[in-house]
Amino acid sequence: MAAYEYETHEYDVIIVGAGGAGLRATLGMAEQGLKTACITKVFPTRSHTVAAQGGIAASLSNMGPDNWQWHLYDTIKGSDWLGDTDAQEYLVREAPKAVYELEHYGVPFSRTEDGTIYQRPFGGHTTEFGEGPPVQRTCAAADRTGHAILHTLYGQSLKHNAEFYIEYFATDLIMSEDGICQGVIAWKLDDGTMHVFNAKMVVLATGGYGRAFFSATSAHTCTGDGNGMVVRAGLPLQDMEFVQFHPTGIYGSGCLITEGARGEGGYLTNSEGERFMERYAPTYKDLASRDVVSRCMTMEIRGGRGVGPNKDHIYLHLNHLPAEALAERLPGISESARIFAGVDLTKEPIPVLPTVHYNMGGIPTNYWGEVLNPTKDNPDAISPGLMAVGEAGCASVHGGNRLGSNSLIDLVVFGRAAAIKAAEVIDPKAANPTLNQASIDASFDRFDRFRYADGAISTAELRLEMQKTMQDDAAVFRTDKTLAEGVEKMKIVASKMTDIKVSDRSLVWNSDLMETLELDNLMPNAMATIVGAEARKESRGAHAHEDYPDRDDKNWRVHTLAHVNGADVKLSYRPVHTEPLTKEEDGGIDLKKIVPKKRVY
Ligand SMILES: Cc1cc2nc3c(=O)[nH]c(=O)nc-3n(C[C@H](O)[C@H](O)[C@H](O)COP(=O)(O)OP(=O)(O)OC[C@H]3O[C@@H](n4cnc5c(N)ncnc54)[C@H](O)[C@@H]3O)c2cc1C
Repeated sequence: MAAYEYETHEYDVIIVGAGGAGLRATLGMAEQGLKTACITKVFPTRSHTVAAQGGIAASLSNMGPDNWQWHLYDTIKGSDWLGDTDAQEYLVREAPKAVYELEHYGVPFSRTEDGTIYQRPFGGHTTEFGEGPPVQRTCAAADRTGHAILHTLYGQSLKHNAEFYIEYFATDLIMSEDGICQGVIAWKLDDGTMHVFNAKMVVLATGGYGRAFFSATSAHTCTGDGNGMVVRAGLPLQDMEFVQFHPTGIYGSGCLITEGARGEGGYLTNSEGERFMERYAPTYKDLASRDVVSRCMTMEIRGGRGVGPNKDHIYLHLNHLPAEALAERLPGISESARIFAGVDLTKEPIPVLPTVHYNMGGIPTNYWGEVLNPTKDNPDAISPGLMAVGEAGCASVHGGNRLGSNSLIDLVVFGRAAAIKAAEVIDPKAANPTLNQASIDASFDRFDRFRYADGAISTAELRLEMQKTMQDDAAVFRTDKTLAEGVEKMKIVASKMTDIKVSDRSLVWNSDLMETLELDNLMPNAMATIVGAEARKESRGAHAHEDYPDRDDKNWRVHTLAHVNGADVKLSYRPVHTEPLTKEEDGGIDLKKIVPKKRVY
């Protein structure tokens, strides 16, 4: 057994992650008087949320008529009827409150002429239950909305005396023998010390796992660490086959050009200069939802109408818009286009390509953020002591496909909900749990195994193999053949984790070891994604299966659950919640409006 000395800390709540979700939860917990600490592997304001550009959705009606029922309908349709309707209603009804709360905390939103919060159109957000024109629902702070939110929430958390453990890498959950989460173990990156955090509640807010793919808009830190911890604790991941490709990653670098660019009037063209989205989505054109636009772009490229010498990408035009509007509304992407594509977007189009952007799947939760461990008798059974929020979680509001600007609102609404629930279930006066030493020892053993790993393949090599396989075989379009091959390839890739080589044995700033632990987290995410995709014999949302082009609600309107153990994945399914929170007769949404139908934009 590996012997590591460690320091023990006691809190009511430990939040792992300081992105939008983690900080909103931290602030909420601290505000309610719970003894709260937040652990993060990067400085809070460097979390991926800082890169969010376009904005945050809420039906404020500042720019024209809007209401929560329309937002709910759009979210359900966007999810391709795979989201949990109760959670979706909670999201859209709480959204305006959550945005005003951010405004009062100090987020510097862009303004309309009369001083209200500026809102822009975004893909899939409409009026009149998808029958009317696009709605302006996405609240924005220019094209730096995530940046503004993250800095504000960090300041507020400090004001409420939340404690931060910065550049601590959480390795594993501590689980009692009967499956209650009791805390987490973390490695302090800058001095190599080990820390055991004893808590009555652990909240995972560790973000997505975009880096399982070769080309992604997400930060290199988006390695699905919380999902990996959950897998090792024997709990399932949900709906992992649903991976969102954003239509407009910059060709080559993958750096994002926000959908706000199309919201402000940008459009896509093929090699014939044609605005091809008019053909595929006659009503909403370039503002159809992301999965639809990404597929249409891929079809144009496959049809030989891609642009550039290899005809392998598409153009995004903003050059017809007034230069002042671009400078005011989209300053950040003007800079990105210049640096990453060498393009002056006031004069030329930007070369773009669908790029991995968001993980709809994650750790299954209810709409209070409580993690689920479904049993045969109870598909909604709770796993005590554990919550998950933000992109790591799956509540599930985004179902098969997330609408743009619905993630930032998900972070703050569910971060807040988790805090409300925690205050109900945690007794600050009660003693902390006695920790299960076996769980702590097992974690240090794993850590030590990687620290001294002396196999044949380096972390960087194996990571690249995984990323290329996922990019090729779990792509925008999927077939039985590519998926079956992908599963076989990924099984081989995942099994090579036992043959990994780490060269640095030290404990201080050992990025080699940290990246290996991250790879060990990415691997189960990748396995659950490709195995879940291979099994799902239909097309829904981001899962576009060429051999089964239609959605099959009779057999497949179910959430996938994946238990992962190395290269072995066991799948099961749980029902989708189809009932909204509020009954129709009590003022809820008209149920006829949300009956599944064909998804056209
Ligand atoms: C480029 C880009 C633009 C986007 N634009 C928008 C937009 O305009 N609107 C919108 O709604 N959505 C947008 N999204 C999506 C949205 O920003 C993300 O889904 C969201 O920010 C994720 O937030 P989070 O709090 O869940 O996680 P993150 O912000 O990714 O934060 C994760 C946190 O977990 C910590 N962490 C992870 N692992 C560990 C570990 N092992 N130990 C300790 N700490 C750990 C990290 O340090 C970090 O603090 C965008 C995404 C990208 C990539």
